[in-house]
Amino acid sequence: MRQQLKFSIRVVVKAGTSILTSEDGKISSRNLARLGGAVERVLKAGKQAVLVSSGAIAYGMQAMGFLKRPKEMARLQACAAIGQGKLMHAYEEFFLSKGLTTAQILLTRDGLEDRTRFLAARKTLEELFSLGVLAIVNENDTVATDEIAFGDNDILSVQVAHLVGADLLVILSDVDGFYLRDGSRIREVASEAEIDTELVKHLRDKRKEKTVGGMRAKLKAAKLAMRLGIPLLMVSGHEANSLERALAGEDVGTLFHASRLAKSSRGKWIAFSAARKGALTLDRGAHEALLKKKRSLLASGIVRVRGAFERGDVVELETLEGAIFGRGVVRYSSRDLAQITGKKSHEIQAILGYKYQDEVIHRNDLVLWG
Ligand code: GLU
Repeated sequence: MRQQLKFSIRVVVKAGTSILTSEDGKISSRNLARLGGAVERVLKAGKQAVLVSSGAIAYGMQAMGFLKRPKEMARLQACAAIGQGKLMHAYEEFFLSKGLTTAQILLTRDGLEDRTRFLAARKTLEELFSLGVLAIVNENDTVATDEIAFGDNDILSVQVAHLVGADLLVILSDVDGFYLRDGSRIREVASEAEIDTELVKHLRDKRKEKTVGGMRAKLKAAKLAMRLGIPLLMVSGHEANSLERALAGEDVGTLFHASRLAKSSRGKWIAFSAARKGALTLDRGAHEALLKKKRSLLASGIVRVRGAFERGDVVELETLEGAIFGRGVVRYSSRDLAQITGKKSHEIQAILGYKYQDEVIHRNDLVLWG
């Protein structure tokens, strides 16, 4: 698996605030140059890269003379607004001196849940790749607070990797991967089950990192990346050559393998990016027909409809016990479903006065996970 990393062409590199700051929490231009240099070498090696970088809040705090990280969300958001331009300015200056042009992209998780916006962002990024411009992504902290509160862009970086169809996501961290209590480094994680059974129980010092990132957020991001079919490597961001060593297939950091069950891009969108507008509770027969017999969902198997949604929206599927086991695109609105729930397909026409198809969710529009 390590050797395959050599062939990665499109790489997303994520750097949290602590990679850019020194011990006192102030932005360090030396650290920024070290990170920039590593990304520059990736680009000069002929690969494509996107840099997901935090640091706006740290820059903003510095500009305002705040010595401690503010506690109020609005003030953190204000700091991000103050600092984002300064962050980009620092990157621009660095990369321009290396002959590289940069672009700023500000995204939010729920912005990417909208298929149209997701595709618009993808097109922009593709265009930037073809222009040979380095895209530098951060959360748009004025309108979203997900990454300020939890994760410091860990999840956002997975979404970006998914957006551009990256071969690899490298999370630069304070530590060189995950360590077990006995001091040994976890080199590779092959399945999600390993995270829950082995890793979580035996991890050493889960609070080692200084920022909101933390190990918990990284494991959550790793799981999501695995499900999306993107290998994720966590390496130290404090060593100048760890990114290069990782891309040379060397044994550094912790590598999370992509799940072999990686689905189609539409399937991934249904499963992970699309907003869920409601939920359908299914009876046992329908649950089994979907899971085991690979059938489509018919109205007769639905026992309850929650939420308000239109034809074409994504809803969650749950068992009678309330366990969510999948998602799908509905072909009937919640208003229609309120009338045809539990009914046979041949009755739909008479009840609604029209019928689209027999299937409420077609097999091809379903993503199930158990
Ligand atoms: N997007 C924020 C930033 O760039 C997140 C980092 C944080 O919460 O400190 O500063």
